[in-house]
Amino acid sequence: RLTILSETRQAAPFVVQGLPQTEADDLGVPTVHRTVVDAANFDHAATTPALRTVHETVRRIQSTYGSVHRGAGYASRLTTGWFEQARDEVGRFVGARADDEVIFTRNTTDSLALLAHCLPADTLVFTWASAHHAALLAWPDRDTVRLPVPKSAVDAARLLRDALEASPATHRLVVLTGACNVTGEIWPIRELATVAHDLGARVVVDGAQLVPHRHVDLDDLGADWIAFSGHKAYAPYGAGALVGRRDWLDAASPYLPAGGATAAVTARHTHWQVGPARHEGGTPNAVGAIALASACATLAGHGRSIEAHEAALHARLRRGLGRIPGVQLVHALGADRPNVGVVTFTVDGYDTSLVSQVLSDEHGIAVRDGRFCAHLLCDAVIGEGRGAIRASIGLSTQTHHVDRLVDGVRTLVEDGP
Ligand code: PLP
Repeated sequence: RLTILSETRQAAPFVVQGLPQTEADDLGVPTVHRTVVDAANFDHAATTPALRTVHETVRRIQSTYGSVHRGAGYASRLTTGWFEQARDEVGRFVGARADDEVIFTRNTTDSLALLAHCLPADTLVFTWASAHHAALLAWPDRDTVRLPVPKSAVDAARLLRDALEASPATHRLVVLTGACNVTGEIWPIRELATVAHDLGARVVVDGAQLVPHRHVDLDDLGADWIAFSGHKAYAPYGAGALVGRRDWLDAASPYLPAGGATAAVTARHTHWQVGPARHEGGTPNAVGAIALASACATLAGHGRSIEAHEAALHARLRRGLGRIPGVQLVHALGADRPNVGVVTFTVDGYDTSLVSQVLSDEHGIAVRDGRFCAHLLCDAVIGEGRGAIRASIGLSTQTHHVDRLVDGVRTLVEDGP
């Protein structure tokens, strides 16, 4: 048994047994949940419950913290130290190079918006129709080339090469998805980054779905930057990071021009900091950053066992659902792509929201249905205007959860709603 399961047990968010009757009524908790002790969370791609170590870290610092980079008192100096150690830990987690910057942000969306703010004026941005809206739409003030949804990894490399060769510009940025939030497929980042670099472009990886599931190293990936969210990597809401090359970041105007980002202000001129502080104006979310680092340290400590745990469950889930008549599994790059533990499907003749409601209310299973902030990809691989049901595996998922999900869908198909 994977030892990290014990990390998640205390934090299982859907265990509502014991919730006072009135509170359950107020929250509209279905009756079945009041007796489901071991509710099954298949919504890790949306948000992950914080790990036990993260809870402990937060509890510890909540009772001691002082102001960060602003105070001379003991608590303040202690907290500043923790905050900067957190920066180092987060950098290590993604293999930051010696001269990379680690900037704390709110989440992936914020990290990409920060990078968009920092791009040199004439930068041409290459995005993909298959991207999450956070990566697709982050560049409103930039010239953008939108590549179509690729049919395979080879197709993606060809599309990118053709587009880069056709659009020379002084500065070019290629936005790559680490792992797709709709299908869970891991993108061929290394191959695509090689194409981009060969043709003089830079690369940012949207790592929101990748970093919670795979060991990531910026150099290995060939990425110039990576953006990710703490709340998808077993840390609380409100902290994320942008990690990567400092030159464009230090040359840009501050993302949040305010206290903390300034080196000196005179009547005539404002001198801004360089380094992470330049873009971290205002009092930082130090608790969030330290909690994020704690999650990173725990995940890093479990290394490949996370991948093995999730891969076995993913194969079982895909096999189980794939055998049910009328269940269609959703793919973009191909069923054989490495996957971060997502199985997305439709059930012929059934509305996706009905399927997810039945799974929730009758089987205590949390999935997500809809179009997953990736409308163009859904149009391409599911059908115009259509959505699907997404089951995403994480550290708390166990074999019997997978079997319960498969049984739940089979029962629905065989017996009707
Ligand atoms: N990118 C991908 C691939 C995602 O799956 C998500 C969220 O689902 C995001 C970006 C945006 O993350 P956040 O909402 O934490 O900013």
